[in-house]
Amino acid sequence: MAFYCLDTFGLYQKALTGTKLPTTQYMSVDPVAQGLYAAKCSACDSYLEGFHWKPPYRVDLELRAGVFGDIAFGPHIDILISDAFRNIFHQERMTGCSMPTKVEVRRVKKRGKPPGNPPDYYLTRVQLSNVRIDVAASGIRRDEAICPECLTGGILDGYDRIIVEPDSWTGEDIFIAKGLTGTIICSQRFYDVVARYELQNVPLLEAELCKCQF
Ligand SMILES: [Zn+2]
Repeated sequence: MAFYCLDTFGLYQKALTGTKLPTTQYMSVDPVAQGLYAAKCSACDSYLEGFHWKPPYRVDLELRAGVFGDIAFGPHIDILISDAFRNIFHQERMTGCSMPTKVEVRRVKKRGKPPGNPPDYYLTRVQLSNVRIDVAASGIRRDEAICPECLTGGILDGYDRIIVEPDSWTGEDIFIAKGLTGTIICSQRFYDVVARYELQNVPLLEAELCKCQF
């Protein structure tokens, strides 16, 4: 079973080849209202995600590749997806994201020739799942003991690869796994859909190649 990671910050590709894959980035425009809810571990009480962002959803986009990406990354784990991607997601019955909500694009920062008007973008949150990272096989380094329930603890120092415990995966197409909650992981089907529809600027790398040292 192959899994892929979304290279949201370009760090995985940089660690591999010294360059970053082209992405579209967003910044949330102030004022940003935070909800009161963020999931916590039932065993150790650690926060497992950031607080949810509440409307209004207003963003500035930054293009790093001259085209509007079908996915955009920002300061939160929440992602933006284009109208086209939202329709494909629905049509292909893909799972793992919250209901997409339209955002207002205030401004577009770009270099070079303007690519025209942006598509509609929608905010969605990839769900925290019960899929588990194989901590030992991934070579995860933390400075404190790891909670057996949420697989986190202390500060993350780094990891050598990302290995999912295969039996813990229940078919999600895109998900956050216990053990590495800052990384968005995708299924083979997700990867195939991105390729088949030629979605733009969706930086996917094989999970086993994704490593990080902080
Ligand atoms: Zn815990």
